Amino acid sequence: MTWKCKNCRTESDDNVDVCWKCGYTQKGKPSYSDDIPAQRIVFDKYAGLRIIATLFNVMAWVVGLCSVLFSFIQFSHSSEESMIYGVTIIITGCVTVLGLIAFARILIVLVDIEKNTRK
Ligand SMILES: [Zn+2]
Repeated sequence: MTWKCKNCRTESDDNVDVCWKCGYTQKGKPSYSDDIPAQRIVFDKYAGLRIIATLFNVMAWVVGLCSVLFSFIQFSHSSEESMIYGVTIIITGCVTVLGLIAFARILIVLVDIEKNTRK
């Protein structure tokens, strides 16, 4: 058995009493104005994960820019030793940036997977 949401007309299964799409209850009230905080917590968790993902993206940019800057400083010394330092900084920077971006992407994918499984 299914029921139709009074707010967005989406069909939901009978064993859930909150619309998966808009969060309204079967009675046509937003669930977060009721004493059901579950929906709210889920949204807050998503928001938190998205903020963390954004932070990791920002960190990736900062690390990337810093490693380019530091390697240029090393290259400007033009001694063999500072060349090696410069290359090391570039490689380490690239790996760190890729790691941070990958982690941010994984977080967003996890959020999307959890959203999809809630249907
Ligand atoms: Zn709805």
